[in-house]
Amino acid sequence: MSEIPSKSTQLIHHPYNPPAGFDAVPPGIYKASTIIFPSVAALRSRDWKHKTGYTYGLHGTPTTFTLEERIATLEGGRFCTLVPSGLAAVVLVDMAFLKAGDEVLIPDNAYGPNKAFAHHELAGWGITHQFYDPMNPADLAARLSPRTRLVWLEAPGSITMEFPDLPALVAVVKAHGGAHPQGIVTALDNTWGAGLAFNAFALGVDVSMQALTKYPSGGADVLMGSVVTNHEALHDLLHMSHMRVGFGVSGNDCELVLRGLGSMALRYAAQDAATRQLALWLQQQPPIAAVLHPALPGSPGHAAWKRDCSAAACLVSAVFQPGFTQPQIDRFCDSLKLFRLGYSWAGPMSLCVPYDMSSIRPKGWPHAGGLVRFSVGLEAVADLQGDISQALGKA
Ligand SMILES: *Cc1c(COP(=O)(O)O)cnc(C)c1O
Repeated sequence: MSEIPSKSTQLIHHPYNPPAGFDAVPPGIYKASTIIFPSVAALRSRDWKHKTGYTYGLHGTPTTFTLEERIATLEGGRFCTLVPSGLAAVVLVDMAFLKAGDEVLIPDNAYGPNKAFAHHELAGWGITHQFYDPMNPADLAARLSPRTRLVWLEAPGSITMEFPDLPALVAVVKAHGGAHPQGIVTALDNTWGAGLAFNAFALGVDVSMQALTKYPSGGADVLMGSVVTNHEALHDLLHMSHMRVGFGVSGNDCELVLRGLGSMALRYAAQDAATRQLALWLQQQPPIAAVLHPALPGSPGHAAWKRDCSAAACLVSAVFQPGFTQPQIDRFCDSLKLFRLGYSWAGPMSLCVPYDMSSIRPKGWPHAGGLVRFSVGLEAVADLQGDISQALGKA
C-alpha cells in the first residue's frame, strides 16, 4: 500500500465522525446490510436473539428496533417482529408455529391471501387447514383436534364486517389447551383494530399481527407488517423463523411508518367518525339493502364490538338490493370519482372494491345482492356522499 491511499479508499475509510448529541424530533434512520464488529472476539460472541447489539442488517438496526418497540407499545404487547408486508406477517406466523402433520383453523371470512397460503403452500408442506364460522364458537370447538396448532382470528372479517366474539373463541381454544409448542396458538389479524380499537392481549389472544401498510403508515406509500406477542417462548419461535427466512425491512420504509405513527390515533379517530357518518347515510339510500359496519345496531357482531371496542376503522360494506345486477354495480363503481378503485385502505384517499361474496364468505352468507366495500379516506364526508349519490344515479 502506498503512503497516501487513493481517493476511493479515503472516501470509504474516512476518519470524520459527526459529533454525538444530535437531537431531533424524528429518530435517526439507519440503513445497513453489513454491521461492523470491533474485533473477532465481538464477531464470535455476537448475540442474534436479543436487542443487546447489532449483527447484520437483516436482524436489526437502531431504526428497526425503534419501530418494533413502538409497535409493541401500540398493541400493548412486549415483543414485536417486523416483516416486509402484512401478508408476510401472516406467513411468518404460519411458518413459526406449524410443521408437517399439523392443522391450522382459519375463519371462513378471513383475509383472502391468508386462506390462499393455506390452500397452496401449507397444503404442499403437509399442513392441513379447515375454515370455521367465526360467528359460531361451537363450530370452532367442533373442528379442534389433537393436530390443531394454530387458530387464526380476524376482527371483523375485512369484507363482511362480521365482528366475532373474540373472548368466546379464545376460551374455546384455551379449554382445548393453549399455547404452542404444547398446545394451540391463537393469532389475530389485527389490521382493523390496529392496536387502537381494542387491546388484543386483554381479550386473551396470544399473537397479534397487523399490516402496518394500513393505519400506522397512513400514506398509501409503504408495505410492512408486524407480529406482536407477550409470550417470550412464542416470540422466540417467531424471531428464529424470521431470521431463517430473511424477512428484512428497509430503513427507508421504517422511516415512513415511524413518521405515520405520530398522527395515527388522530387519523384513526377522524376516519372512524367520517365512516360512521357515511354508514348512517348509506342506510337511508333506497338502492342499498344493508350496511355492514360493526358500530351499527343490527350489523353482525355489533354486541361483541360494543362490549370489546372503543372505536372502529374506516371500512364499511354496502349490500345492494337484489334487483341490482353485477353490471349495474360495476357501473356504480366505475362512476365514482372520489372513491377510486383499489385495494388496501387507511390512506388519505377513499377507495372502493366490488366483491364476489361466494368466494369471500363461502358458507351461509345471508345476502342476495352484490356488495361494495368502501374505505373512507380523509376527504370531506359531504363530498363523499355527493360522489356516491351521483354514482347511484348512474347505476
Ligand atoms: C391489507 C391487509 C393485509 C395484508 O397487508 P399487506 O401489507 O397488503 O400485505 C392483511 N390483513 C388484512 C386484514 C388486511 O387488510
